[in-house]
Amino acid sequence: MKTNQSIHPPVLLGNGSLHRLEELLIRLDAKTVFLVADEPAYKFSGAAQVMDPVLQSRHTTWFTEFALNPKIADVERGVALFRNNRPDAVIALGGGSAIDMAKLIAGCGSQEGEPADYGTGKKKLEAAGPPKIVIPTTSGTGSEATHFAVVYVGEDKFSMAHPSLLPEYVLYDPALTHSLPPGPTAASGLDAFCQSIESIWAVGSTEESVGYSVEALDLSLKNLETAVLKPTPEARLAMAKAAHLAGKAINISKTTAPHAFSYAVTTRFGVPHGAAVALTVGAFLRHNLGVDDDSCNDPRGAEAVKKRLAILLQHLGEGSEETALSRIRELIVKINCPTRLGEVGVKREDLPGLIGAVNLERLSNNPRKITAEQMLALLEPLL
Ligand SMILES: [Zn+2]
Repeated sequence: MKTNQSIHPPVLLGNGSLHRLEELLIRLDAKTVFLVADEPAYKFSGAAQVMDPVLQSRHTTWFTEFALNPKIADVERGVALFRNNRPDAVIALGGGSAIDMAKLIAGCGSQEGEPADYGTGKKKLEAAGPPKIVIPTTSGTGSEATHFAVVYVGEDKFSMAHPSLLPEYVLYDPALTHSLPPGPTAASGLDAFCQSIESIWAVGSTEESVGYSVEALDLSLKNLETAVLKPTPEARLAMAKAAHLAGKAINISKTTAPHAFSYAVTTRFGVPHGAAVALTVGAFLRHNLGVDDDSCNDPRGAEAVKKRLAILLQHLGEGSEETALSRIRELIVKINCPTRLGEVGVKREDLPGLIGAVNLERLSNNPRKITAEQMLALLEPLL
């Protein structure tokens, strides 16, 4: 089936691109706007100076009160507000949570039913809803380039997916990331870094997605450390590109085991998303390198997976497994993020619960099968 998964929204990526917002809203004839924004990001990124006059000249509904890692209760409040206003356009400003929240509200709000039914996949989205303009203020999640959005219903994490969730326009202005502190810069950058690694080995990968991920991987290897420790406009711009390319890659391939395992670490131990994914990416690299015909999930066969893993090792460690693994570790340490589960408070007795929380469907996109026992053996040394 042909889907629009490899169609990408028009992206204006470059310093100052936020100044094009007015022009875009005129083109869309948007007189009423629904803004989903991370309020501190709006105030402190420099967005307010540019956006205040644009929004003040239109009827703008603000939605700013929501938790990180979108919760269904927040989506429900947003949807009620959205349905009362019926906006001509939706604007998202912030990191992955704000962007996913805007997708969830615009997606669910444009249907008739209860948001939870769409969030959990019980019902499919039908009406497309108003155009979405996405303005990222971090470099990492790639949410602006994907047709899915994460939502938590209780402790359970769902990924709502539909072609109409792909934003219609992206204004990616790296100047908005200049005030982002080292911690969030590191965590969001690690998300892009891990997405590019996972995307290369993913069962869902294609030649096109591998192209994006390799480029994203090289850019993050070269620029993440500088963007965190001694940020320069060039390093910020490069990380914005890396994040967006990684987003385009996972929009096609989806993510794999490190992402699948990370969600419960984030919710139960409060570890920022990208840092939680990075905790296990090396361990799963080691596991995936052992792929053979019996353990292979990829219908293209173990040889095809090995070829992609060889590309990955080439870019990460000049072809050597050990060099690649230490390069991953060193990068995480240099930008002051944890490398061991023990460092974030995970104890031996927590592991079965964390493993039990892993979404099995997501694991089928990992190139090598993994049982709960294997995962335990893989993760114990990280305590
Ligand atoms: Zn991620």
